Amino acid sequence: MIIIVGLLVAFIAIILLRPWARRQCRWREDRSRRGDGVRHVCVACGAETVLPEGQRPRDCRAPRP
Ligand SMILES: [Zn+2]
Repeated sequence: MIIIVGLLVAFIAIILLRPWARRQCRWREDRSRRGDGVRHVCVACGAETVLPEGQRPRDCRAPRP
């Protein structure tokens, strides 16, 4: 029983921490294209995301290898 609980805790920790998303992403605002929000481009991996004004991306949005 304790093993199942331990696995469950580890699983939740992995979901919450998302170690694969912790990359050195450097987001740059791209204000040349205006849409519903501000477009951000990661100069490290090329990921793109659109967020509302005033928000910054927190993690990498690039597709996982
Ligand atoms: Zn990135």
